[in-house]
Amino acid sequence: MEFATFADRAGTIEAEPADLEVIAHVRDLIADAGSDLEVAARFVQGRVFPAWDSTTLDIGPSACYEAIARAAGTNVSSDDVEDRLAEVGEIGDVAASYDFGGQQGLGAFTGGGTGGTGGGSDGNGGDLTVREVYETLEELAAAEGSGSQDRKVDLLFGLFNRCSSEEARYLARIVLSEMRIGVGEGTVRDAIADAFDVPTDRVERALQVSNDYGRVARIARDDGLEGLDSMVLDVGRPVQAMLAQAGTVTDALEEWEEAAVEWKYDGARIQLHHDPDVSEDSAAETRVFSRNMEEVTDALPEVVEFAEAHLEEAAILDGEVVAIDADGSPLPFQEVLKRFRRKHDVAKAREDVTVRPVFFDCLHADGEDLLAEPLTTRHDRLRSVLVDGRADGDADAVDDTDIDGLSLLWRTDDPDEIESIDAEALEAGHEGIMLKNPDSTYSPGRRGKHWRKRKPDVETLDCVVTGAEWGEGRRATFLGTFELSVRAGDTLETVGKVATGITDEKLEELTELLESHITAEEGQEVELEPEVVFEVGYEEIQSSPTYSSGYALRFPRFVGVRPDKDPADADSFERLERLQSD
Ligand code: AMP
Repeated sequence: MEFATFADRAGTIEAEPADLEVIAHVRDLIADAGSDLEVAARFVQGRVFPAWDSTTLDIGPSACYEAIARAAGTNVSSDDVEDRLAEVGEIGDVAASYDFGGQQGLGAFTGGGTGGTGGGSDGNGGDLTVREVYETLEELAAAEGSGSQDRKVDLLFGLFNRCSSEEARYLARIVLSEMRIGVGEGTVRDAIADAFDVPTDRVERALQVSNDYGRVARIARDDGLEGLDSMVLDVGRPVQAMLAQAGTVTDALEEWEEAAVEWKYDGARIQLHHDPDVSEDSAAETRVFSRNMEEVTDALPEVVEFAEAHLEEAAILDGEVVAIDADGSPLPFQEVLKRFRRKHDVAKAREDVTVRPVFFDCLHADGEDLLAEPLTTRHDRLRSVLVDGRADGDADAVDDTDIDGLSLLWRTDDPDEIESIDAEALEAGHEGIMLKNPDSTYSPGRRGKHWRKRKPDVETLDCVVTGAEWGEGRRATFLGTFELSVRAGDTLETVGKVATGITDEKLEELTELLESHITAEEGQEVELEPEVVFEVGYEEIQSSPTYSSGYALRFPRFVGVRPDKDPADADSFERLERLQSD
C-alpha cells in the first residue's frame, strides 16, 4: 500500500465524527492493505511496533523537528518548526504546512531513499510505501551507539523528504506517538472482526493473548476463526496486566457471596516469563515486564535468580516486586522505584535496596494457558509451580506461608475474618487488602469489578482516645489497640477500636503520649483520661451493640494524632449518626 493512500484514509477517518463510520473506514483500510496489513493495522493506531514489543524509536521531538526542518529546505530551521508548533499546536498540522521534496540529492545521500519524485504540498504524494516507512522506522529504532541520533535524524529526514503534505502530517504523528485520529483499540478490534467476518469476542481473545493487532488481523484474514482460536500465549511476550478498581468489603461479599482475599503489596507490578527449555542462543530464559509491558529484566536480577532457583517448568506469573529491609519486612514503594527500570549501576543499586518478588497469579504453566480458568484454579496452579521447584517432595505437606514468592489467598464470606486479614496485612507493613472474585477469569488490561482494592477512606472522624490495650510479644511495652469515642453531650460514647496501620516507631510515640493519661489498668486493658484526639478513617459505620454509641466503625484505620484538637473539638454523636445515614 502506498503511504499516500494510507495518509488519505487516515485523513478520512480523522474527519469522521461517527464511531460506526470510523470502524467502517478502518475496516476498509485493513481490507485493502494487502501485504502491508500488519503495519497498517498498527499505524492507524499510531503504533510502529506491536504492543508486546518494548522497542521504541528512541527519538525525541527535537530530532523530529530537525528532520522536518531539513526536508523543508535550507531556509527552515528546527526553531522555526518549534515556533510554528507553538502557534499551530499540533505537529501534524505543522508538518503538513511545509513544502517537502526539494532536497532529493541529500535524501538519497543520507540513505532515506532515492528521493524519487518528491512530495510537494500539492498533495501529489511521492512513491513511498507503507512498508518502506515501516522498514525505515525499524532501522531508525535499531540505530544505537555514538552518532546514532544523527543517523536517526538522517533517516527521518529521508522519509519526510519524500512525503506530500498529508503523508508528512501522519508520519510526524506516528513518529511522535500522537496519531489522535479517534482510532482506539476497540475500533481496530471491531474493524478486524468486520473486515474478515469473525466474531468480535474471538478477535478480542486473540488480542489478549498476543497483544499484536497486526498479527491478529493477518491471522483473521488468512486463517479465519480457526487460526484466531489457535492463538496462544507466548512465553517471553508480555500480556496486559489485569487491573483492579476500588471497592468495599460489603459490596464484594454482596456480589460474590465469598471473596478471595489477598494482601496488597506496596511494590511495582511485574510479569515473569520463564522458559527453562529455550536454547542458549535464542531468547533469554527469564524475562520480566512492567505493568505497561516494558521489559525490566536487567533491573531486577533477584527476580531472575528467583525464577532460576524456583521454577522448573515454563510459566508466566503475575505479581509484585517489593523492596525489603534486612529482616525481610516490606519497605515503602519509593524504595522499589530506586530499582525498577534502572538501566545503569544495577549492582550498586542492589546493594542499597533489596527486592523480592511475590506472585499472586499464574497465566500459563507448562504449555497450558490459564486465562480462562477461575482465579482459585490459577492460584492452585501458581502454588504447584512454586512448589514443584522445591526439593522437599510432598507438595501437600508444605504450608503456604513456607512457599517462597507465593501471595497467600484466603476464601471467606465472613467480614470479621476479612477485617482481621486487613489488620494483619497492615501490621506486616503492607498496603491493605485486595478482594477478588474467586470464580473470575483473568481479563488482561481490564479494570473490571472482579479485582477490587479496598476503597480508601472517604471520610475520617476525629475521635477521643478513651482506652487502650498493651501489646503482646515484641510490642508488650507499647500500647497497641486504642479505644475510640465520640462526644455525646457531656459524655463520651465508644465507637470502635483502632489497632492497625501503626509502625513500631509510631506505637512508641503514641505510648509516650498516652501513658501519663492512664487512670486505671486491668490485665492488658487501660483506661485513659480523655485528652488525646485521633483522626481515623473507616469503610462504613454500622449499628452495633458492642459499643456504647450503638455504632461501630467498620475497618477503622489510624490516620494521625490531632494535637491541634481538644476532646471538645472531636466529632460528635450527631455527626456519626448523620454519616451513618448518608
Ligand atoms: P492500584 O495500583 O492502586 O490501582 O492497585 C492495583 C495494583 O496493586 C496492582 O496493579 C498491583 O500492582 C498491586 N497489587 C499488590 N498486591 C496485589 C495483589 N495481591 N493482587 C493484585 N494486585 C496487587
